[in-house]
Amino acid sequence: MTHEVRIKGWCPGAWHPMATGDGLLVRVRPRLGRLSRAQVLALCDAAETFGSGLLELTSRANLQLRGVSEAGWLKLMAFLVEHRLVAAEPHDERHPPLLLAPEWQAGDATQQAAHRLQARLAEMPPLPAKMGFALDAGDAPVLGEASADFRLERAASGGLLVRADGRARGTPVASVDVAVALLVRLTHWFVDSGGRDAGRMARHAVALPDWAPATVRPAAPGAWLALGQHPRGRVFGLPFGRVPARVLRDAIAPAGVTAVRVTPWRRLLVEGAEKGDTPPADDLPDDERDTRLRMDACPGAPHCAQASVPTLALADRLSGLIEGTVHVSGCAKGCARQQPATLCLTGRAGRYDLILGGRADDTPAATGLGESDLLAYLETLDASRL
Ligand code: SF4
Repeated sequence: MTHEVRIKGWCPGAWHPMATGDGLLVRVRPRLGRLSRAQVLALCDAAETFGSGLLELTSRANLQLRGVSEAGWLKLMAFLVEHRLVAAEPHDERHPPLLLAPEWQAGDATQQAAHRLQARLAEMPPLPAKMGFALDAGDAPVLGEASADFRLERAASGGLLVRADGRARGTPVASVDVAVALLVRLTHWFVDSGGRDAGRMARHAVALPDWAPATVRPAAPGAWLALGQHPRGRVFGLPFGRVPARVLRDAIAPAGVTAVRVTPWRRLLVEGAEKGDTPPADDLPDDERDTRLRMDACPGAPHCAQASVPTLALADRLSGLIEGTVHVSGCAKGCARQQPATLCLTGRAGRYDLILGGRADDTPAATGLGESDLLAYLETLDASRL
């Protein structure tokens, strides 16, 4: 392979890694949102051999390695290609990603749509790099909050519909084939109607074409995968969206485990795992009461070059202390959470700014706090504010 590392790709992938404070970030998109046990073992080996030993699960259900050296990247890519974890050709990674509802079953509408859409990706025009599809055709949509630009969902009547993101209603379609044809056609309409300037469907404030009338609402949203036992195995949570490779390897060690499905909710479904197979680890909890699962923290220092403060240890320390949502951000960019949080701590010049009910870049209530000042400050606050 003769490809060169591209630094600072604005939408990183495996072939287009992004430089961060601790090396390259290499992102893997599991095909159909599912990896075989052997592929997960290979990914764990890759994280330990070429990266920091941690795996991260993104809000678009991708898995990523951090801390990859430029010298090691090509060897890593050869390893990932060998284990069919990334496409052999860089241009295949350019296609828009497909996010599948994690509980899809063989032969259902979600899986059929994924196969048919994959076969037609080359018919689409080049789209802005962050654009993607949500294939969410179970009884009730579950991916409504996940990032996607065109969605396949069901109406309350059970019929299929195609919905452009940002629109409350979608276009009813008679079959998966019709849905896929409409999705492909909508990508051309998006580009032809100037959508590239908006970058995402939700920001493209243009009326939908006459041939895609948005008349039907999707069914009421369904629930996320609950932690613990599941008909296919067990569901585990990843605090702050991360898991050490050695912990994941232990979770898939039982002989009955066959595969792992990814989700956009910091949860993994380990197919074939049974209760008692593996005691839940602190790093891979299966208890909904674990408050770390509701907290957001970016990698912080030393993992990101923009960060002047560490984030993960502080987030761990705050776990269970705050009733509401918590966001610890290495800088004002706020990568880990775009919505306001009850308590947000933003690193600036080696200290923390404290924001109440806001985003990482909002006006702070207190500035320049060290960790002990911060804990003392929190004690002075009216509990109702937290
Ligand atoms: S919020 Fe800032 S410090 Fe954290 S990952 Fe994003 S750029 Fe890096």
